[in-house]
Amino acid sequence: MDAVIKPWPKSSAADDLTLSDHVRAAPAPVVPKPSREQALAAVRTLIAYAGDNPDREGLRDTPKRVIDAYEELYSGYRECPVDVLERTFSEIGRYDDFVLVRDIAFNSHCEHHMMPFTGKAHIAYKPIDRVVGLSKLARLVDVYARRLQTQEHMTSQIATAIEEILKPRGIAVMIEAEHMCMSLRGWKSRAPPRLPPSLPAASATAPTIRSVLLRWCAALIGERRGRGV
Ligand SMILES: [Zn+2]
Repeated sequence: MDAVIKPWPKSSAADDLTLSDHVRAAPAPVVPKPSREQALAAVRTLIAYAGDNPDREGLRDTPKRVIDAYEELYSGYRECPVDVLERTFSEIGRYDDFVLVRDIAFNSHCEHHMMPFTGKAHIAYKPIDRVVGLSKLARLVDVYARRLQTQEHMTSQIATAIEEILKPRGIAVMIEAEHMCMSLRGWKSRAPPRLPPSLPAASATAPTIRSVLLRWCAALIGERRGRGV
């Protein structure tokens, strides 16, 4: 594949109304943003609400640790997908095949319970003239994962970002995840933890490409089920 690296025109991307809001820029910050002291106090309140004493020795520094962890766990609110995919490989010449990236591991938090869900994302696309390095796709998944999410929104947001930035002929995204909130309920009811159904999101201007991508997703699901994972 002949390739030259080209920067995405970042300055105009922020004003590009053809891009979806969540693709064009990082989410607008909450105004007014709570102070660090307010956030620490909120964690103390939750500890007390759970029934423990936030002043006992083992818990004294917990609010600080929780808030410090938030910086990393929710760093996706400060990142913009266009920036992540800004360096693309263009002029791919006769390269005319699907790009398949499997098993991109991620950690996220569900927006309903603020509990972790972890899993793997699989991305397939057929480029026209823009291809990104594989690490960039992993970073894109990370941007959306490090926000409060649902599996469905995350799947479609990743697909939309790739579609709008790279403008491929077709794109399919599938996410497999285990949700802690579901696993814990399963444990309490003595039922085995269940994986929620995998959700492919696919789009393409050409129906044939769309069906190829969806078939690939279906094959991947079947393969996983066959292995019992
Ligand atoms: Zn949940």
